Amino acid sequence: MSNNKNESTSPNVLPSLPYADNALAPVISANTVAFHYGKHHMGYVDNLNKLIAGTELAYLPLEKIITETTGKVGKTAIFNNAAQAWNHTFYWRSLRPKGGGEPPAVLKQKIEASFSTLDACKKELATAATTQFGSGWTWLVLDGNKIKVVKTSNADVPITTGMKPLLTIDVWEHAYYLDYQNRRADYVNAVLDNLINWDFAAENLA
Ligand code: MN
Repeated sequence: MSNNKNESTSPNVLPSLPYADNALAPVISANTVAFHYGKHHMGYVDNLNKLIAGTELAYLPLEKIITETTGKVGKTAIFNNAAQAWNHTFYWRSLRPKGGGEPPAVLKQKIEASFSTLDACKKELATAATTQFGSGWTWLVLDGNKIKVVKTSNADVPITTGMKPLLTIDVWEHAYYLDYQNRRADYVNAVLDNLINWDFAAENLA
């Protein structure tokens, strides 16, 4: 690909889902995935492309758009849509059919070094997800050499504060309301037990 920005007209694209829209059922229904991916996620990508069309930002990788616009006056809408586009792609990859279970050994050892047990780590993820006030995200991150649980509001993403995301759980109401209504804790615990993709988290350690 050319580095000449005048020749680069590719907008940000909506990545394919890594599985069929019914592959996460019954924990997350095909109906939820269809709206979440096909309306919400796609909407963030489309809005971003409209907002940056014809500007310098149009030629930057998505992560760069996020780090260039975070906290900048007048760039809030671009940041929000760029970060939400990134967060959702990361979320779909943080889940998989027949997920849950045990992490790969290299990740499990790091988790036990930081939380003492896998169950303690899962409990901290669940607590962060259920106590996030309003919309946001819960993350397992690598911060230096330590694994931590952090939560962010709205579109915020830990890459803007130098942490390396390993996996995420979307706790915006649109992620669970069709299936769980107000029962966010049931959604989070079902995801952690049945869908969380520890292999993806382990790949992100590298
Ligand atoms: Mn979402």
